[in-house]
This record gives sequence, C-alpha cells and structure tokens, in this order.
Amino acid sequence: MTEALIEVHSLVKHYPVPRRGLLEEKLVLRAVDGVSFRIAEGEIFGLVGESGCGKSTTGQLLVQLVKQTQGDIFFQGRRIGAKLSGSELRRLRRDIQIVFQDPYSSLNPKKTIGWTLEEPLIVHRIGDRRTRRTIVAETLEQVGLDPSYASRYPHELSGGQRQRVGIAAALVLSPRFIVIDEAVSALDVSVQAQILNLLKELQQRRGLTYLFISHDLNVVEYISDRIGVMYLGRMAEIFTTGAEGAEPLHPYTRALFSSIPDVRKARERVPLQGEVPSPIHPPAGCAFHPRCPFAMDQCRSLVPELKSVGPGHEVSCHLY
Ligand code: SF4
Repeated sequence: MTEALIEVHSLVKHYPVPRRGLLEEKLVLRAVDGVSFRIAEGEIFGLVGESGCGKSTTGQLLVQLVKQTQGDIFFQGRRIGAKLSGSELRRLRRDIQIVFQDPYSSLNPKKTIGWTLEEPLIVHRIGDRRTRRTIVAETLEQVGLDPSYASRYPHELSGGQRQRVGIAAALVLSPRFIVIDEAVSALDVSVQAQILNLLKELQQRRGLTYLFISHDLNVVEYISDRIGVMYLGRMAEIFTTGAEGAEPLHPYTRALFSSIPDVRKARERVPLQGEVPSPIHPPAGCAFHPRCPFAMDQCRSLVPELKSVGPGHEVSCHLY
C-alpha cells in the first residue's frame, strides 16, 4: 500500500454520562472504543455502520472537532491531538476539512456565499482581496456553480447547490484530506449521484484523500476504495472494494451487505437480528455476540483483535 496520510492507533472517545444523584454510578458512553486504521494518500476510505456505531465521532476526532480520550492520530507522520498549539491547529485546519450532512446549518443565513468562502482565506491570511475573490470564483466553478453565486444568500439555493457550497467551503483552503460525513444522505437520489460524481472528480483532479462516512451501503461501496465497518465503537472489518476485493467475512458485515443487491455476484442473505446494544453497557467479549448466529463460548468473554486475513483485508472475529 502507498504511504499513509492518516494513521489512527487505538483511538478512544468516551463521554461521561451525567449522574442524576451523588450515589449513582459513574458511567461513560463508549462512542469510539479502540479503533485503528490507516488511509493512504489519494485513497477514499468509506466508514459504515448502524446509527450510533461511532463513525461520525471518528470523523470529528480526525478533524479535531472533538479531542480523543486515548489513542493516537498521525497526519503525514506527525501526531495530532490535545497537545497541538493554536498555530499548529490553524495549520491543520488548512490541511484537514470536513463536509457535513446539512450545509445549511453551517452557512450564515445573513452572509453571502462569497463572504462564507472568503472568510477562511482572511483568517489564514491568504492573498489580497483581489486574489481571494479569484480563489472564491475558481472554487465555485470547480464545484459546478457559476461565480455569480458568490452574491447569493443560502436561502436562494437548492439543497444540491447548498451542498456544492459546502464542498467549496471545504476546498477553498486547498486541503489534502477531507472528512465527508453523510454529505449526500439528505439529497434526492438524482442529486446524490451528481454530488457523488463531483466528489470523485475533485478527488482525482486534486489528488485528495477522503474519509467518506455514510449509513448508505450502496453509496459507500460505489465511491470507496476500501471500507471500514464499525460496530459499537469498534472496527469489525476493513476490506477492499471492487472486482479485486475479497468478499467480506465478518458476520456483521455479511449481514449488512447481504441486504443490498449486488450486480456482480449473488450474496447469500444473512439475517440481522435484534437491536444494537447501548454503548453505555456494551456486551463483554465480542460486542456483536448477542446478535451473531455463529457466536461461540469464547465470543462472550474474549474481545477479538483486528487481524489481517489477506491483502487489504482485516477482520475482528474469532472465526478467522
Ligand atoms: Fe460472531 Fe464470535 Fe465472530 Fe463475534 S467473534 S462476530 S460473536 S463469531
């Protein structure tokens, strides 16, 4: 594999649960509970899992919107995390950006699109006014919007156009790595396809690296080079997509992906039973064991490690 742009080692994010009384036990919500993976330069790494599995928290940790409880994140070989100085964090914000599901909430309704896109350039002291306006116009064109959109307000745009502005806001500082968190989930199917194609085109043209987070397996499989499957804050499996990729092995991954039609090969339907347990009281051993049709005695007490089972393929399951 080519050199890693991002490496994550045993990443943990626990949130304390507010106590209702002094005598009540101290509890923590284990949003991310020891996740490790690497993303190569120029790669699209998809992250999937049911709601509450920790995929969005992982994305927020990588852009340092939240600080990890434990574990290490390396960007271009340099450790990032709680000890970064203000200037180091500012530098990092240029290199690592995020696109959210709802761009409307991150756009100031009283400011024009041009203002929104120019502001980060001012904060990072990039160019004079004329240069900044040129960068804004070029970035709008790259996301498929006419530069005249700079004078419009967010309420004047459609959902797809707003998401294009959200992508432009992430691109304007010329980052190397972008976390894309459920960015097409709220869009109509036809607009979804346009935005996905735009993201792919930008990734290839600019040599970008993405962490692409979505609950939509079709979308993730379409866009990603490799996929990480999370379950209750842990990584269940990492596998390569496409014709050269191996079929997923983890019972949870197989259940998830067997529910979507595959034009390449018939996938055996694996039923997924029961609900995801609470991340405040995760099951001992393999967290998936209460729902797993293959659970054995050791699964109830021993946490399976993520092990390599082939090129670009890692599984955390006692069956392998
Ligand atoms: Fe199922 Fe055991 Fe594998 Fe967990 S470790 S997925 S319970 S077989």
